[in-house]
Amino acid sequence: MRVYNFAAGPATMPLAVLDEARSELSDWRGSGMSVMEVSHRSKDFVQVARESEARMRRLMAVPEGYRVLFLQGGATGQFAAIPMNLTGPGDRVSYVNTGSWSAKAVAEARRYATVDVVADEAATNYTTVPDQDTLRPADGAAYLHYTPNETIGGVEFGYIPEVGDVPLVADMSSTIMSRPVEISRFGLIYAGAQKNLGPAGLCVVLVRDDLIRRSRERTPSVWDYRTMAAQESMLNTPPTFAWYLLGLTLKWLEDQGGLDAMAERNRTKAGRLYAAIDGSDFYANPVAESARSWMNVPFLLADPALEPVFLQQAQEAGLTNLEGHRSVGGLRASLYNAMPPEGVEALIDFMKEFERSHA
Ligand code: PMP
Repeated sequence: MRVYNFAAGPATMPLAVLDEARSELSDWRGSGMSVMEVSHRSKDFVQVARESEARMRRLMAVPEGYRVLFLQGGATGQFAAIPMNLTGPGDRVSYVNTGSWSAKAVAEARRYATVDVVADEAATNYTTVPDQDTLRPADGAAYLHYTPNETIGGVEFGYIPEVGDVPLVADMSSTIMSRPVEISRFGLIYAGAQKNLGPAGLCVVLVRDDLIRRSRERTPSVWDYRTMAAQESMLNTPPTFAWYLLGLTLKWLEDQGGLDAMAERNRTKAGRLYAAIDGSDFYANPVAESARSWMNVPFLLADPALEPVFLQQAQEAGLTNLEGHRSVGGLRASLYNAMPPEGVEALIDFMKEFERSHA
């Protein structure tokens, strides 16, 4: 039985994508081999890679002047690669701290540059995002980094920070392609693929051409944007199966009507779940209303002792991976692109029934 999988990542994938992959698993495009067994330099695979890039550009309406890179090492690799590529020794960089993932980005960046944390939401226990009016890069910042969606806290920016001429760098790991975004506002966008784009193994980096002219000496070649751009992200052997599944997922996104359709669907899914939480004294979401995430919805039970019972019964009802991140506990439902609206409705029905029998 296929379950509704609310995991934060690796996360649920579209069934149509899995079915398509299965149908050609042992004989891909008449090659008599799986896609995993062909050379990444073969004509057919290079075509997969180029089509994926073209689809991504189309779906996200990426303007001229940006490179699309497919790198390894996850978003965590980029926490280091970004300062390595965008700063020189002694440079200052500005970071916004809205929770666990931005804090990790800060810690890694400190190994390479002088970091000014120009906004920190500690005072609200990371349940808010800073006001645009107060958000400024420090003088001389090489870039400003922020996390549009905090996967663990379920805290999301409702706006794109206005930072003047300073390049804006965004960790879109848990929000990429969940809605249209004005790419030209950003210097660099990066995202691990394992939430909205497919399986783990690839990190997508969109970077403005003028930012990839210099990288720091001793930057590993596989993370050097200039080298990887020149090699079409194939300096070395990429995770070909992940890349192929990313391609199928992008095709599925197009079939669904692209990012406008996804935005509508994601807005509705999240709205339905928040309404169910807010409409009950049994459940609560700690995040400020204006900063609530469409993608990751943390919630608490009025009686935390019931959490294991909730998780057990949800599991039995085919609703899986609803536990909060190990660092914060509680419950969390991740509602990425591939979570169908019916999954959210099934969760809401389950929550209502659970409340009736335990309140
Ligand atoms: N940033 C965010 C917002 C994330 O959610 C995650 C993973 N959950 C990461 C970074 C780290 O990604 P990876 O595991 O691909 O390194």
